[in-house]
Amino acid sequence: MSPDKPQGQEKPKKLNLHRHEMPKQPPEVRRGNFNEVALGYTSDLAIAEASRCMGCKQPKCVAGCPVEIDIPAFISHAARGDFAAAIRKLKEKNCLPAVSGRVCPQETQCESKCILKNKGAELAIGRLERFLADWEAEQGEVEIPRRAKPTGKKVAVVGSGPAGITVAGDLALLGHEVTIFEALHKAGGVLTYGIPEFRLPKSVVAREVDYVRRLGVEIQTDCVIGKTRSVDELLGDHDALFIGTGAGLPWFMNIPGENLNGVYSANEYLTRMNLMEGFLFPRSSTPVKKHRVVAVVGGGNVAMDSARTALRMGADKVYVVYRRSHEELPARLEESENAEEEGIVFKMLTLPVRYMGDEKGWVREMECLRMELGEPDSSGRKRPVEVKGSNFTIPVDGVICAIGNSPNPLIPSVTPGLDVTERGTLVADPETGKTTRDRTWAGGDIVTGAATVILAMGAGRKAAKAIHSFLS
Ligand code: SF4
Repeated sequence: MSPDKPQGQEKPKKLNLHRHEMPKQPPEVRRGNFNEVALGYTSDLAIAEASRCMGCKQPKCVAGCPVEIDIPAFISHAARGDFAAAIRKLKEKNCLPAVSGRVCPQETQCESKCILKNKGAELAIGRLERFLADWEAEQGEVEIPRRAKPTGKKVAVVGSGPAGITVAGDLALLGHEVTIFEALHKAGGVLTYGIPEFRLPKSVVAREVDYVRRLGVEIQTDCVIGKTRSVDELLGDHDALFIGTGAGLPWFMNIPGENLNGVYSANEYLTRMNLMEGFLFPRSSTPVKKHRVVAVVGGGNVAMDSARTALRMGADKVYVVYRRSHEELPARLEESENAEEEGIVFKMLTLPVRYMGDEKGWVREMECLRMELGEPDSSGRKRPVEVKGSNFTIPVDGVICAIGNSPNPLIPSVTPGLDVTERGTLVADPETGKTTRDRTWAGGDIVTGAATVILAMGAGRKAAKAIHSFLS
């Protein structure tokens, strides 16, 4: 039997329907600190969970993974307790396993396809991924794969988020000389500025960025492409270019009072907290006001992150205000459950229509309408419909608007020949990421609009293959 093939196929395996829970900080403790909520599997729990895998001959889980990880192979190594072989197998397709194991929506991807889902509970693939990445880091010796012979070709990557990191790592392994240009002072893109410490510790992001550096990738921070240097200049001294600048332009609702003090975009609020470490002020240099009653508008993961951050900053009450019902919440179930356990109050079927302030220009109240659900709209979800005359007010002194983001417009606006769609996303071939500019590829949120970390990584992987084939 190949060492990569799952064991135990000779004898039918006894089904274990029980999915092993991952220990977490209790809600009453974690709502008062910024430490990571989930504590990760122990070795014993990891082996027990991995041992549930049936080692399917035609594993459906792999088809659900945007980066095509050989899931049964890495799980079979883990089930035998050979964690070194397991992480080696995992990293053949995923250079950010500690990140994706924490923040990917596995429940709608690999785990949703797992055969065990219909027989009790799907395998906890994401938790095992996370365990293996953390186990390797604890050993103090992260294995660096051998790079192909240098090709003499140079590739510029704009943006150090999940798409940029993946394309850079893949191309470096193939022997190309890769430089990432990052606009902020720290690498990691949305992983660094967008996702809070309690969900994705910055030390974990730094560890995985460091891994890509050790693959030979150079990272230049504080370099805003489109301002500091142009795309044309980069193409002048590189053979190919990848744009992965993400979706960081926040949306507002354009309702009265959004310019009052105390009303933020989630993007600004979370950047102040995550990248600038506002929660450590005055040890850090960025202050963040402590609000007493905060309303977060929106229902996605960014809304949950903002609400839970405001709670940890000492707010007495935090509302999530969402115009549809619980069933339509776009956030991961795990995140909305965590938020509820911590005491976040969900105001469903509620639409803000204006904010009112005091004489000094600080927000003091929000006016909302009640909604009811009508027929499904183009997204397939039931359309929220206003209930006429149902206006009511909620006293607040902080509002965080987390209703979505558009792609960063800087590069398309100053680069001739780079076509954009009506939504402001870059026009790119879905299979290769090739844009309308010569020698230029793109992937991640700049092409799809705001999506998930693993989809951005998948786009980076496809573009790396296309760029490599072009350079070869
Ligand atoms: S579908 Fe589930 S049980 Fe089958 S190989 Fe994948 S993880 Fe294992």
